[in-house]
Amino acid sequence: MSTATLPPPTQLALPVMNESKSTPAAAPREFKNVRREVSADAIAVLTFDRPDCAANIFDRATLEELNAHLDAIERDSTLRGVVLTSAKPGIFIAGADLHSLSTAPMNALRDIVEFGQRVFSRLAALPMPTAAAIHGAALGGGFEVCLACDFRFATPDKATKLGLPEVQLGILPAWGGSTWLPRLIGLPKALDLILAGKTVVAKQALKLGMVDDLVPHESLLAVALAKVAKAGRKPHRPMPFAVKTTNNVVAGNLISMLTQPKLFKKTRGHYPAVLKALEVVTLGVGRSEERALKLEADAICQLAQTEASKNLIRVFFLQERAKKLGFVAAEVTRRTVANEGEIRLLTSAATKVERATVIGAGVMGAGIAQWLAARGVSVMLRDINTDAVGRGMGTVAKLFADGTKRRTFTPVEARAAMDRISPVVELPSLRRADVIIEAAVEKMDLKKDIFRKLEQLAGPDTILATNTSALSVTELAESLCAAERVVGIHFFNPVHRMQLVEVIHTPRTDAEVVRRALKFVQAMGKLPVLVKDSPGFVVNRVLMPYLVEAARLFEAGAEVTDLDEAMLDFGMPMGPLRLVDEVGTDVSLHVAETLASHYHRRMAVPEVLGKLVKGGHLGRKSGEGFYLHKGREASVGEAAERYVKDDSAANLDRVDLELRMLLLMVNEAARCVEEGIVSGPEDVDFAMIMGAGFAPFRGGPLRHADTLGVANVVRAMNELVDEGEEHFAPCALLKDLAAKDGKLYPEKGVLI
Ligand code: NAD
Repeated sequence: MSTATLPPPTQLALPVMNESKSTPAAAPREFKNVRREVSADAIAVLTFDRPDCAANIFDRATLEELNAHLDAIERDSTLRGVVLTSAKPGIFIAGADLHSLSTAPMNALRDIVEFGQRVFSRLAALPMPTAAAIHGAALGGGFEVCLACDFRFATPDKATKLGLPEVQLGILPAWGGSTWLPRLIGLPKALDLILAGKTVVAKQALKLGMVDDLVPHESLLAVALAKVAKAGRKPHRPMPFAVKTTNNVVAGNLISMLTQPKLFKKTRGHYPAVLKALEVVTLGVGRSEERALKLEADAICQLAQTEASKNLIRVFFLQERAKKLGFVAAEVTRRTVANEGEIRLLTSAATKVERATVIGAGVMGAGIAQWLAARGVSVMLRDINTDAVGRGMGTVAKLFADGTKRRTFTPVEARAAMDRISPVVELPSLRRADVIIEAAVEKMDLKKDIFRKLEQLAGPDTILATNTSALSVTELAESLCAAERVVGIHFFNPVHRMQLVEVIHTPRTDAEVVRRALKFVQAMGKLPVLVKDSPGFVVNRVLMPYLVEAARLFEAGAEVTDLDEAMLDFGMPMGPLRLVDEVGTDVSLHVAETLASHYHRRMAVPEVLGKLVKGGHLGRKSGEGFYLHKGREASVGEAAERYVKDDSAANLDRVDLELRMLLLMVNEAARCVEEGIVSGPEDVDFAMIMGAGFAPFRGGPLRHADTLGVANVVRAMNELVDEGEEHFAPCALLKDLAAKDGKLYPEKGVLI
């Protein structure tokens, strides 16, 4: 064994380190991921430090290294304890290596699950006291290993987050988490965390009993070492009375019986991992640890085979991919730009965004300004007059107040961020602005005017971005001298909640501007998808035919409840007509008309939308649309009923309604791929899941089309065309694939 050299005591804040106590080599192997050192008090310190990686994860090699260290520790009778720590600045252990888990054949998956359980159980069974010194994310397997320790100390830092998020990936904690967490904090609290896949900050973790104490980072390791040294022998921690009352067969059965129907109602049965986790955790508390661990292992092997789990893991990978997404043009462009007589290379511009200007202080402008300021950017927020800009600042202040209530910010942080925003009516020179985001009203002529002015005021490297929902970025760019610097940076509403941002480039956008725009979005903690300019980009383009079809079916006699429930049953977070009301019938109409002007009959706007708007029924904001809104409640309204034209769709059942609305989304999503608007089907699926809430467990509209079978999808579309519904005509890509029984995703899947 190569025992790593000891870092200086100050660095680790260890009392005194004594290399001579290092355990002799246990196995002829190299330790790359976990190193072992021994303190002056004869405490073994296991430091997780995956090479060339920002994060520690548990893959087979790391588990094997930990296992080999345990061999050595068990053999060394001089050791008095063990402390686990991480050398990464913001991560303890982020979890299991999902890449290998998700591609493992079933026998290999069972093997790694059981191996992990054995290694962690060995750690739990060591005869000496053990502690985890947690700074940064300790999630999934990263928290399960902490559960195998006798003591857990965590730093109160924001970076420190603990939890078992496995159900969000369609699986469950199976390296002891489902067994040990309820034994530590009691069944109800453990279920609350495990069934929601919740991650908590250190303060909450302390309150819940997941950690023993909070300790500043500087003294974390020293405190953990001292605790272990002081404990002397393996502690016996009797189960608290409150935990005993819930952790038994009777309470487990009762809690399971009461919780199951609620979970089923909430998930509509689409998330098998949640129900399975309930079963495993509630059964596990009344059984021996050994049997409880077996339940975990059997359950994860079963869940890993479900479509839901595969799709949720894919979504996770797509999120990871978006965080790293870069842009390299086929041929690296180093175009020169003339600006106010100065010739500059755009490629010389720095990537970092420190100063931004936001034009328009409405819903979106204020939301964007707040988000950027909260991430340290100095923002100038401009609107047409002091009233408008004042309203915008009011929106920003409310967002910060809400964030402070949710503990996203401390009051001091919120104040400092608020101070970074300067409200203005007259624009000064914007030469120092790194990016300007226009979020004024959705009118092409107005936007052109604004951009012409911005072009004069901006510096030669300033990115000129529009947040337009559906107007042509190309047309806007072409009206300027510096078309190369124009991109779409399309945030979704509400900005602070929606992670997706569409980055839209025109045929003229400079490659470097695209690259910087992507980096900017990533630096702001959002997930970009790169889209070629086309009407509606991706999300609105794919969503609109679905919303329009819902309104059309309503006009043809389908019930509001049937239409919305059909899609809720499918797994959408909200029914289409409710969504129209939430967005506003006026905003929906405007986007629908813009898209209809490009896509014509395919997206012909049903009259009901225009009539609702004309009648002042704008949805939630006016109190009525398709629904009657009272507070957060909504019941079916009467206003829209007046605009039902016939009863041709009155007899369609929910399955038929769902199919129609879904087919149109699939068709438009496939067109985005066919036209090369995006780089592949995964971009559309990712955008629809993150930007429109498309049922994530179905993997997106195109993944779902593969699950249904493209040939079946095309057959269903053709049947509707034969009934005279021409807007269902399948696109060429779908027809081609159906003819050769092909799939939108390559046979083995892009990611798993
Ligand atoms: P909004 O009506 O809430 O705000 C628009 C603001 O722009 C108003 O405060 C108005 O006074 C201001 N404005 C008008 N002319 C201006 C000018 N010349 N200079 C500066 N400000 C001016 O609109 P919104 O919902 O915030 O939408 C803004 C943009 O974002 C639109 O292009 C819209 O399509 C797009 N968008 C909206 C949403 C959404 O859900 N609301 C989502 C994504 C994108």
